[in-house]
Amino acid sequence: MDHIVQEKWDEILEFIKTEYGITNVSYKTWISNLYVKKVQDNTVYITSDDTNITDNFSHISSKYGIFIQTAINELTDGDYNIKFDNESDSDITPVGVKDIKINHNQGLPLNPDYTFDNFVVSKNNQLAHATALKAAESPGDIYNPLYIYGDSGLGKTHLMQSIGHFILENDPEKKVMYVTSDTFTNELIDSIRTGNMSPAAFREKYRNIDVLLIDDIQFIIGKDRTQEEFFYTFNALYEAKKQIVITSDKPPKDFTALDDRYRSRFGWGLIVDLTSPDYETKVAILQKKIDLKHSEGNNIDIDDEVISYMAENINSNIRTLEGALTKVIALAKIQKMPATKELAEYALRDICTPNQKKVITPAFIIEVVAEHFHISVSDILSLKKDKEIALPRQIAMYLTSEYTGCITSRIGEAFNKDHSTVIYNVKKIKFARETDRALDETIRVLINKINPDI
Ligand code: ADP
Ligand code: MG
Repeated sequence: MDHIVQEKWDEILEFIKTEYGITNVSYKTWISNLYVKKVQDNTVYITSDDTNITDNFSHISSKYGIFIQTAINELTDGDYNIKFDNESDSDITPVGVKDIKINHNQGLPLNPDYTFDNFVVSKNNQLAHATALKAAESPGDIYNPLYIYGDSGLGKTHLMQSIGHFILENDPEKKVMYVTSDTFTNELIDSIRTGNMSPAAFREKYRNIDVLLIDDIQFIIGKDRTQEEFFYTFNALYEAKKQIVITSDKPPKDFTALDDRYRSRFGWGLIVDLTSPDYETKVAILQKKIDLKHSEGNNIDIDDEVISYMAENINSNIRTLEGALTKVIALAKIQKMPATKELAEYALRDICTPNQKKVITPAFIIEVVAEHFHISVSDILSLKKDKEIALPRQIAMYLTSEYTGCITSRIGEAFNKDHSTVIYNVKKIKFARETDRALDETIRVLINKINPDI
């Protein structure tokens, strides 16, 4: 016969969920799949069949142990201790006293959709997800810094911002700062150039926060001054036990241009990666995005066949997958037709090339480069000579020459330039890459975004 704790387990779980303000994602990830293995001498032995949970027992114990124990005793009128089954000897450790709150207000450019609730967990991101959640539950405590890397479009920014949302949801007074390394660089340059913000004020701004989310760190590597300033901020936050989360397109060991003493800092906490999703994950992500659109009041109707078609044929990354969905929905709306497979095939004819090699066009490269540098396609095609536009244009020409197989005169046409300008620019970037590390990094990221199948 079941023990009273086992009999009441569902009630106990419900109580834990509702009484202690535990967020949905924490509850679902760590608590909902726990069960009572046995009760002996006033000790409740708790376990789970999910290894993601048993591997994290010490975390669960320290974060939620007290809640679980209190709930059991509350609902059974008992006086039980609890033990997580694969814990060696120690009893649960009490939940730590919350950090003193610092009151800072600052607008956050966080995307409201980039939450843990909207993140589909699967084999390719399970470890990164569990780790990010743990860091969010105990900021600054366990994984500092948390370093997430992976190819473009696989969910780094989404996961990183989920941490920010989670922390703010638990404590709206926490000061969470999300920046891309571009923003960081530009602010630093501005503070030096215009004198609007003194270097001291710049440092103060970045030191006075509780959580730093710095996205795409690769862009500051090799820019000496920015890099130095970043590590200054890093050290100050690290010493103050403030959570730092870093994303990048590659692991720290691949930053060969970076000094050892700096590089090792990235590994002080935990390094996790995101890899490409499999078919089932792609289907689940598409379904999640469709649900999101429904909840925003968009009444869209998409055949399951269309979802499988996209999941089967789009292999590059999740961003492209999402772009494909948007395109299909848009076309269905314009044509006032249901989103059938025929319509999807038509809408995605330049993205999906089933069983064929992807064709990379000059227009595609120009789009990717423009988006990357936050300028417009027409800027690239214009005659403007400002450095902010001329350099991206040269880079786009170089990439076009490397990855489209177009001859120079065709590239000239695509860029509205004569063919000697193309030859000059392509050469210029090719040579500059060899000596300018920052430029080389940028180009490698762009190649990643273009994602050629070679
Ligand atoms: P990255 O920063 O790695 O380039 P993003 O975080 O911008 O990638 O993700 C690209 C798009 O894919 C975003 O719209 C994001 O919401 C979506 N996405 C990525 N991974 C997932 C996931 N596991 N579940 C749901 N959406 C995802
Ligand atoms: Mg990103």
